[in-house]
Amino acid sequence: MKDQPDILKQSGLSLTESRKKILELFLDAEGALAHNDIEKNTHTSFDRVTVYRTLQTFVEKGIIHRIPTTDNSVLYALCRHNCSHGHHHDNHVHFICSKCEKTICLDDVMIPEVKLPKNFRKEQAAMVVTGVCEECS
Ligand SMILES: [Zn+2]
Ligand SMILES: [Zn+2]
Ligand SMILES: [Zn+2]
Repeated sequence: MKDQPDILKQSGLSLTESRKKILELFLDAEGALAHNDIEKNTHTSFDRVTVYRTLQTFVEKGIIHRIPTTDNSVLYALCRHNCSHGHHHDNHVHFICSKCEKTICLDDVMIPEVKLPKNFRKEQAAMVVTGVCEECS
């Protein structure tokens, strides 16, 4: 696993305290992180705008990706598919455990190809599977 300065340098980002701290949270996390949790973990050091902007930058740079949720919460997880600036390849299934409530990237489980009707053009597909995770079963 690479450490935060490497990841930030590779993405062409300068090493600010907020970027280092927030990236560290992702590297330590077992599953996905909710926007609210990230704010809670950093609110003594950074304001909300800084946190929001840092997350946006990470998404743009291909460091983290957004995960679709059924409620209005926003979840993010580290990218492991060699995503780059503006190009994400995270077409994997996300799993939500109903016991521990963790959201997990199933990096090796790809979203099946969906056949769309004529004249429909796909931009993005997301798939969330709920159930019981490895650790809880
Ligand atoms: Zn990605
Ligand atoms: Zn679980
Ligand atoms: Zn994911």
